[in-house]
Amino acid sequence: MKDSVTLHGKKFTAFLSEKEILLAVQKIADDIARDYKDEVPIFVGVLNGAFMFASDFLKCYPYPCEVSFVKLSSYRGLTSTGIVETLLDLPEQVEGRHVIILEDIVDTGRTLQELVHMFANKNVKDFKIASLFYKSEIYNGEYPIDYFGIEIPDKFIVGYGLDYREQGRNLRNVYQLKKQPMINLVLFGKPGAGKGTQAAFLKERYGLKHISTGDVFRYNIKNGTELGKLAQSYMDKGDLVPDEVTIRMLQDEVEKATEASGFIFDGFPRTTAQAEALDNFLESKEMSIDATIALEADDEVLIERLLERGKVSGRADDQDAGKIRNRFEEYNAKTAPLKAYYQQQGKFHSVNGIGEIQEITRRLSAVIDQL
Ligand code: AMP
Repeated sequence: MKDSVTLHGKKFTAFLSEKEILLAVQKIADDIARDYKDEVPIFVGVLNGAFMFASDFLKCYPYPCEVSFVKLSSYRGLTSTGIVETLLDLPEQVEGRHVIILEDIVDTGRTLQELVHMFANKNVKDFKIASLFYKSEIYNGEYPIDYFGIEIPDKFIVGYGLDYREQGRNLRNVYQLKKQPMINLVLFGKPGAGKGTQAAFLKERYGLKHISTGDVFRYNIKNGTELGKLAQSYMDKGDLVPDEVTIRMLQDEVEKATEASGFIFDGFPRTTAQAEALDNFLESKEMSIDATIALEADDEVLIERLLERGKVSGRADDQDAGKIRNRFEEYNAKTAPLKAYYQQQGKFHSVNGIGEIQEITRRLSAVIDQL
């Protein structure tokens, strides 16, 4: 059994071996076989998570039985959304039959509630629940769990059918999420320095949430929101949007990202007031900035890059050398002083932003890996 696996940039450490799991599956099969040896039950596996459990369970079950599946979903990423969708309906011919649900895991109990509703008016002879894993700490206890294999603490697990964002189902063993120390980065640099491009690679590699204030403003402009209307006049000229607006928006973005194990701030902070607000806000959440990494490049290279980008992106502020120069002036006047702000905190790092994209990612990663 491998000590750990990495899925979508998150590390999971060994938790239950295939041997332990199969023993638990056998025990459930033995218990049910004892109770149902004189009947022909219908086992209903709950997809996707229970497919492996259902398969191994059925190989252990010694008496005649039928098999069917339903498909439900309540997880998005690492936390249960509470939304349980019925994606594939229950088998026909359940009336008067012994139905035994095969679940991979019972945690909050929301999926179970949906299952119970699905079978509520089907006149089944009896309805039982068998779950391989059971999180007793958080289960709401609404329905009895008739058979279960292994009681586990409230940890996010993957493997043996269970996934993290659809990956990990094929693992024979079960792994639990390793709580990684948070990494919070500020990507610093003039417009066109490559912050967005690099953030896209770094967020995958380190499992971070990328917040680009420029992107959030553009999204709001595109969708005609109040925030978008407010920001547009400033952005069109290449001026900065007022601090109080930007700071509030940034805080909302951080608060929305409940699952994040760290952030890449791109295009924020751009003023000393924003940097101070960010420090105070993060402190209130027991978080902090680990590093501010500047991507350095000459103005002439940047102007060329931005004009090129303007041709494809259609961004008004990228298509006009005058507006670009205004953004550089804003940067020199308001953002450049942040270098000293972060240097004082011992958090400022500088990286050469000229070269192949991959090479620059490597330079940035070298800084992050040392943190
Ligand atoms: P960017 O995509 O980062 O180049 O940002 C485009 C424009 O969005 C900037 O020129 C500003 O008008 C606005 N903007 C983005 N981030 C900020 C910020 N932190 N503070 C003020 N204005 C911002």
